[in-house]
Parts: sequence; structure tokens; C-alpha cells
Amino acid sequence: MLAHGRPYLAIPGPSVTPDRVLRAMHRASPDIYEGELLDLTESLIPSLRAVARTDHHVAIYIGNGHAAWEAALSNILSRGDRVLVPSTGNFGRGWAAVAQGLHAEVETIDTDPGAPIDPARVEQALRADKDHRIRAVLAVHVDTATSARSDIAAIRAALDATGHPALLVADCVASLGCDRFEMDALGVDVMLAASQKGLMCPPGMCFVWFNDRAAEARTRADCVTPYWDWTTRANPDSFWLYWYGTAPVQGLYGLREALDMIEEEGLDNVWARHETLARAVWTACEAWGQGGPLRLSVGNPAHRSHAVTALGLGPGQADALRSWTKQNAGVTLGVGLGREPADAFFRIGHMGHVNAHMVLGVLGTIEAGLAALGIPHGKGALEAAAKVVASA
Ligand SMILES: *Cc1c(COP(=O)(O)O)cnc(C)c1O
Repeated sequence: MLAHGRPYLAIPGPSVTPDRVLRAMHRASPDIYEGELLDLTESLIPSLRAVARTDHHVAIYIGNGHAAWEAALSNILSRGDRVLVPSTGNFGRGWAAVAQGLHAEVETIDTDPGAPIDPARVEQALRADKDHRIRAVLAVHVDTATSARSDIAAIRAALDATGHPALLVADCVASLGCDRFEMDALGVDVMLAASQKGLMCPPGMCFVWFNDRAAEARTRADCVTPYWDWTTRANPDSFWLYWYGTAPVQGLYGLREALDMIEEEGLDNVWARHETLARAVWTACEAWGQGGPLRLSVGNPAHRSHAVTALGLGPGQADALRSWTKQNAGVTLGVGLGREPADAFFRIGHMGHVNAHMVLGVLGTIEAGLAALGIPHGKGALEAAAKVVASA
């Protein structure tokens, strides 16, 4: 009964689409041969470079994050090439499976759930690879399943310390536009993201940024087919070649608006907003955990993402909480991903178009749900979260 009103999808993607973005997309397709749409597409390229903090190349695809995984790998790998996947959870494992599907040899380094990538183990694996068979290190910046954020600079340092020539490839699907990430400053060779998380758009577009080292690797790669080839997409001599077919017309208008919003706010301010709101979430969760079973999946705040927070409860309790918040308050929380038992884990998405009232609303709803379900929890969580917002 209390769920009537605007529903809120507080999950780690698709994130909340701003009304401005929805309005921008609500139009008939214009001329796709000349004029406005071509100019709009060209205008996206510098904005996409800016949001990734890179001066290098970008290719756009119609696809989700899984498509971006395949796009990035197929441009740098040949069959039988080896990749190193220091995996922190569900998304590292998923990406490794895509590499396997492309007939790469995959070497994985597993970590405990909630831990970030261990750069020392990456360095060890690189040192052991004396004849440099590893072509690429695949690092997920923020593993959306556990909400652990890995230190990409430390992985770059491991590559540099060993003098290993492997490419550094970063998955920023969850973190782009949420957690600070600067492709060029970090020495990342290939980076990928999708439209429906920090970029605040509907699902359906994905992006691969690559530098000249990666472009050079492309000339040796034999996995790539014309559709996935980033060379033509990043240097199209006709509008059609940006997409290798029909453009995602309405999506482009939405993306233009979303990138305008990020530019108006300023990327550094966007990152700072996410950080404060994430701290409000952690503070509340820590307070609840003082008097009950709720636990943040990532213990060390330095390793927590600013885009999503994964949490554990007792068996069955996370599912019960998710149904309660949806049915009684119109808030959909994220499911636990890749964790056992699945009904003991849930996630709060706080990525993209989120502000203090949305985050405080979600936290208040969770508190109500814990109370209604009789799940023990510590006191003062909302007060503590409000203090984080008040002192920002
Ligand atoms: C969401 C996500 C993906 C997969 O994106 P889809 O659009 O669901 O295919 C990949 N990696 C990370 C880190 C993600 O958060």
C-alpha cells in the first residue's frame, strides 16, 4: 500500500535514467544520411574521451557490457593466446569465459569474495611467464557482484616492475562516471564500459577505448571479425561505419544529454558526489551491523566501490528484505550475484543519477524493512548517514 508513487530501481544497472535523457530520446528518427545526427555522433567522441580521461581512440558498439568484453578481447587476441585474469568475483569469471570462448588460454587468480585484486600475485604470475606468453591482463575495476574496487595503478606497477609487455585491459562497466578512473594516467591500454550504469542511459550501447599499443596489437590479432573490428569504428570514413549498420539513433540523443549532464556537473564533482553518497551507505550499514547479521561484503573502506554496495544477511533474509522493500516501499534492491546462499546477499546500487534524497530514502526503506521483518539491527544508522550528508 505504501508502494504507490514513483518506483526506484536501486540496483547496480540499469541505473536510474534522468528525465532529461528520457526526453532527449523521445523523438522520431531524423535523417540518417546527413545533418544533425552525424554532427551529434561526432560530438560524442571528444565527450567519451573526456569521461574516460583519455586522448586515445574510442569505438562504439550496439551491445551491453558482455559485448564490450568480446569487442575488447577479439581486437587484441589470437587463438591460443594466453590471458591473465585476476578475478574478484562474478564479473572476472564472466570475462574469463568470454576469453575462453575466443579460444584463448586463460590463467586465473582467484581471490576471496570481497577482496580486491592482489597486485603481488599478478606480479608473481607475470614473473613466472618468462617467455611472455601472456598477451593481456584483464582487470575488472569494480566487481559489481562483491562491490570490491581494485587498484589499477598497482596492477600497472606490477607490469612495469616485471617489464612484462602484456596489455592492461580494464573493465569499467560499473565504475565509469562513479569511481575515479583516468585511463591515460593509469597507463591502461584498453578500457571498456556500457551505457546503463554510471552513464545513466538505457542499456544498448557499449564503448571500448584503446591506445596506440593496443591498436598495434590489433594488427596481429586473428580473432576479430569485421563487425567487432575497432579500427573502422574508431576511424570511420562514413557514418555507417561507426556502427557497422544502423545507428542506435534514439540512444545517441540520450547519450549526448547524459554526457552533457556529466560535463555540466564536472567529472570531479560527479566522483565526489558518488564518494559522499557511498560513505552515507557504508555508515548506515556499519551501524546496522553492530546489532545484527548485516555485513558489508568489502571490509576495508579503501577497497569499496562508490557505485554499488554488496551486503550479506542471514540465509533467506536478503530475499525477504528485497521483497519487502519492493512490495511496501517501491524500492527494488539488487540480487546477490555469484554468492552462496544467494538468498543471503543483496546489493544497493548508488551509481549515476543519484542524489542525497534518493540514497537516504533507500536507507530509510531498508531500516523499515529490517524492523518489519524482525531482523536484528544496530541503532542510529539513519542518523549517522544523515550526518555524512550534512557534513559534506
Ligand atoms: C554490468 C557489468 C558487466 C556486464 O554488463 P551487461 O551490460 O550486463 O552485459 C560487466 N562488468 C561489470 C563490472 C559490470 O558491472
